Amino acid sequence: MNDLPDILQVASQLALPLHPIQGGRQYTTPCWACHSRGNKPDTNRKGHLTIRPDKGVFRCPRCGYSGNGYTMARDFVGKERAIQIVGSVGDYNGVKLQELEPAGIETRNVVYNAFLDKLVLSPRHRNDINSRGLNDDIVDKNNYKTTPLWDSTGGICSLLIKDGYPLERIPGFFKNREGKWVFMTLPGFLIPVRDQQQRIQGFQIRVDDKYLDMKENLRKYIWFSSAGKKTGCSSGAPVHTALPLDRKITPETKLWITEGPLKADIASVYMGLPFLGVAGVSLYRQAAQEVKNLQVNKAVIAYDADMHENPHVKAAEKELVKELLSRGIKAVPVIWADVLGKGIDDLLTNLITQEFPLSKITLERLITVNTGLQKEINIDISIKIR
Ligand SMILES: [Zn+2]
Repeated sequence: MNDLPDILQVASQLALPLHPIQGGRQYTTPCWACHSRGNKPDTNRKGHLTIRPDKGVFRCPRCGYSGNGYTMARDFVGKERAIQIVGSVGDYNGVKLQELEPAGIETRNVVYNAFLDKLVLSPRHRNDINSRGLNDDIVDKNNYKTTPLWDSTGGICSLLIKDGYPLERIPGFFKNREGKWVFMTLPGFLIPVRDQQQRIQGFQIRVDDKYLDMKENLRKYIWFSSAGKKTGCSSGAPVHTALPLDRKITPETKLWITEGPLKADIASVYMGLPFLGVAGVSLYRQAAQEVKNLQVNKAVIAYDADMHENPHVKAAEKELVKELLSRGIKAVPVIWADVLGKGIDDLLTNLITQEFPLSKITLERLITVNTGLQKEINIDISIKIR
């Protein structure tokens, strides 16, 4: 038995255009919430909002708007009519996708490290990362690697298997039609996403700009995942912990939170402090839970400075503060003039490595506690300049 209302039928009653993806297991449609959430309207023909019939849910990766069949109808036609529609569509009785649980963190870490050993970082990607402010020592320590071409994925898998590494239930890897192990790849470089013990939980791929220009639907950062493949599994969206070499996280640690693993890596080097890199601002619950798991009492939120032009990010920041406070964690968002740099990483590299060497006090004044949200909590946001 299945008691999910059929979200596809709800969507067709609302006359939404539906575009099948992943062999008809999911559908996309233009997102109707992007605009009201501060993004550019979703004018892409196929749209960004993704519907998963087997789970009865939808989500827009651009603006974070999500819900189920009922919410979808309600936002279009109001509560009363939505109840009627959901009542009339019947239950979903299509194929439920079997999803494999990913292997445990120890196994993933061992396999992913062996995988990185078989890859290189191209001089061009090394340059790209250097120009964002990380020197070669850090680049090597963090182990960023260039993604190989599709043609060589099979060979790399054979080598891993020969060396005794299991690829079953390792997100990103799957068997192709001939039953041969391969992995997903896109032109770009891999960013390891680590836990507090610095074990690799998964990867994001920073997709090359050249390739992004050719594919209008692609985002800059993509998870290394084999979700939707029979022998694959989903990466999930784990939170990244960037830890400077000599640092341990203790309850007294002032933990900083920013959007994106690479940004967290860069900022943590310049501040000498641990940073959490959340893969998207809408993942506030996961972010707050991660802070709780680390048993830290104070968190500083440093989202991009152009946030006030983006109500969605602003709202997500508020949610994160709420989630942190509800877990007994003091939380404070910080802000700076966006001419100094959009992200916290830009701010730090602009100010510290470039034209104007600034004193610690000046820098502290530049980053100010966002009192609009939190007046009561006083956190010293001292910055360590290396
Ligand atoms: Zn949207």
